[in-house]
Amino acid sequence: MLPFAAAGRKEMRYWFRLMDEAGMVTMTIRNVMVIGAGQMGSGIAQTLAQSGLQVTLYDIETAAVNQGISSIGANLSRLVAKGKMTEEQRELLLTKIAVSTDLESAEHAELVIEAAPEQMDTKKMLFRRLDQICRPNTILATNTSSLSITDIAAATKRPQLVIGMHFMNPVPVMPLVEIIRGLATSDETLDSIQTLALTLGKTPVEVHDFPGFVSNRILMPMINEAIYTVYEGVAEPEAVDQVMRLGMKHPMGPLSLADFIGLDTCLAIMETLHDGFGDSKYRPCPLLRKYVQAGWLGRKSGRGFYIYEKGRG
Ligand code: NAD
Repeated sequence: MLPFAAAGRKEMRYWFRLMDEAGMVTMTIRNVMVIGAGQMGSGIAQTLAQSGLQVTLYDIETAAVNQGISSIGANLSRLVAKGKMTEEQRELLLTKIAVSTDLESAEHAELVIEAAPEQMDTKKMLFRRLDQICRPNTILATNTSSLSITDIAAATKRPQLVIGMHFMNPVPVMPLVEIIRGLATSDETLDSIQTLALTLGKTPVEVHDFPGFVSNRILMPMINEAIYTVYEGVAEPEAVDQVMRLGMKHPMGPLSLADFIGLDTCLAIMETLHDGFGDSKYRPCPLLRKYVQAGWLGRKSGRGFYIYEKGRG
């Protein structure tokens, strides 16, 4: 048997089936609440529903959940147009996603996946409330890009059931899920979440709880440096992106990618790296800060390093 790190997706599925049969996987998850209906929350809800799970998509405002559902509907319509799904399957899938603006709906969930904005105060407030609302064995996962899982878990009385489940954007397409244990996360919680990631057709990769984990520890300083090249007048945004696409074979230039991720999220991640390591190499570029202050958040607001005709999507 291959060790985890070297195993492919097929071997890992086999491994988990054996673990499941041996009773080592403790929880079968069928009912999931997703918190935040933005680009990540709606992508996570779509992916869960496509794997047959029952989902409740929560946001603080009706307009936000409606926006999330309509972006899922549009994604699925594209799959129908490409012949990858029938219209009946699309309709059936949409019936698997309920919407809510009442956090109390989490009382029926076996798992909650939080995808609210990248702010520690918001996440701690949500985890504190979810801990009171949810059943005692419900797992609370966060899709945070950079924040401490241990710190978020400390807002609850169930730190053994709190875990980082960091999906990549766009969720239905990207195969990776970075899995992060907090200091107190139990083996059973880890097993359940790794099994779920495999069920979703993703590859879980476990990393340790440090600012930015692995993905954003590497990606975000590159994006920040690309912003510095614009700030210092080295090149225009189009030229920076062209250099990285044509010269380094990146599928998307770093500034287009920053607009896609959301400049508010990029700034929040840089601040977490800067605060967490206390190293000036992670200082956020002043131009990034200025754009966020102006409300230029990238695609979702219609303007970032580029101008977009529509908002999100
Ligand atoms: P987003 O701005 O698109 O969506 C955030 C959603 O959260 C909005 O719909 C907003 O209405 C809602 N919200 C605001 N306050 C809330 C609250 N108190 N409770 C519940 N919902 C609330 O952001 P996003 O890009 O989807 O990011 C969400 C999370 O996912 C962040 O932690 C981010 O770091 C992480 N993430 C983002 C990406 C990316 O590429 N954007 C990738 C991986 C992880």
